[in-house]
Parts: sequence; C-alpha cells; structure tokens
Amino acid sequence: MKPATPSPIKIARRGLMLVISSPSGAGKSTIARNLLEADPDMSISVSVTTRQRRPSEIDGRHYHFKSIREFEGLRATDSLLEWAEVHGNFYGTPRDAVEAAMAAGRDMLFDIDWQGAQQLQEKMAGDVVSIFILPPSMAELQSRLHRRAEDSEEVIATRLANSRAEIEHWREYDYIVLNDDLDRAFSAVRAIVEAERLRRDRRPGLFEFVNGLLTENPF
Ligand code: 5GP
Repeated sequence: MKPATPSPIKIARRGLMLVISSPSGAGKSTIARNLLEADPDMSISVSVTTRQRRPSEIDGRHYHFKSIREFEGLRATDSLLEWAEVHGNFYGTPRDAVEAAMAAGRDMLFDIDWQGAQQLQEKMAGDVVSIFILPPSMAELQSRLHRRAEDSEEVIATRLANSRAEIEHWREYDYIVLNDDLDRAFSAVRAIVEAERLRRDRRPGLFEFVNGLLTENPF
C-alpha cells in the first residue's frame, strides 16, 4: 500500500500580484478564468468600468459597472489603485480589495492593460509579477474577436486598431507567453505562478522554518 502523503508544511509568504495583459482576443480572459478555477489561493481583482455591460456579464462579478460621474467620484477619493482609459472607456482597480488581499497574504490576479500594469509596477514593485500574452498572428486575433460575437463591428475595429499599441509594450513585462495553444499557454502561466511563489524574498516564514531545522536535534 502507498504511504499517505503528509499534509503540506505551511510557510508564511507575501501575496503575489499577478498582472496579465494582452490585446483583446489573445485569450487572456480564458486563461485568467481557468487559473481561478484551478488555483484556490488566487482571487481576481474586479475592476470598475464605465463601458456597457455585455449580455453575458454580471455586475459585481465581471466588473462593477459605473457611470462616468461615479467613476470620477472614485478617482477623486483616491479609491482606485490605478486607472486608465481603454478603447474609449474608463477602467480602474478598487484599492480596498487589493490591500485586504495583500495584508492577508492572498494572491490576486489583475486582468488589466499596459497602462495599469505600468502603474502597479511603479507602486508595488516587489509584489507584482507581470505576464504578457501574445496571439499567434494578427489574423487569428481578428477571427477570435469575431467568433466571440459579443461586440459590434465598430467596437471590434477599435479593439483591433488598439491591439498594436498594446503589443508594443511587451518589453515591460516579466514573462511573455505565446497563446498558439490554450492548454500550453495555461500550463506556462501556472508554472510561472508556482515558481514565483517559491521565491526566497517572498517567503518571510522561511527564517523561522530554517532556524527550526538548524536547531533540531534528531539524535
Ligand atoms: P474589456 O472591455 O474587453 O473587458 O477590457 C478592455 C481592456 O481593459 C482589457 O485589456 C482589460 O485588461 C483592460 N482592463 C480591465 N480592467 C482594467 C482596469 O481596472 N485597469 C486597467 N488599466 N485596464 C483594465
């Protein structure tokens, strides 16, 4: 009979801020959704936005949908950790939820654009790990946007035009994942998360653990 696997030893670590960016249609949202399903230690930062809700979206789950006036109020009270105008709408990250997660040592996922990634990297340098997802080709990006069929032709055209500008920022990210195959891209993202969680400088609990090891007397 196989011996039972011992329960894991918990070593305290700081929470990770995982930023994922890509042009619309490169698969970022699917990868983010799969990661949240597969990884109980990861939660998502739900952004506020002034864009119209898509039919499949739920207020408070996919976004907090707000009027421009409400958004301006959040900005004025410094309630957003970062914000940006993307494709003609405003988007921002609510500060409170992030600070609560970080204080509790929980990991948080941010599906935000390059402007938001830049702001988080400036403000929370040591905690941010950033990944940029590249599409296999611009033709594939275009057909994925059409297949999704949730946006008008006009919105798709704006998103395609903006995707070049988004891709031009690829050098500002820690990791680049090519999404030519969803399973492979997802495995790559999971490997990045696993490795980043093991970084020595993210694990203050190691001091106590290693001290314990060194003072243990097995004889
Ligand atoms: P969508 O309208 O397709 O949901 O998102 C459009 C773009 O806005 C995506 O690239 C998405 O990552 C980005 N975005 C979503 N929320 C935020 C946010 O809170 N801040 C920033 N800077 N970008 C965001």
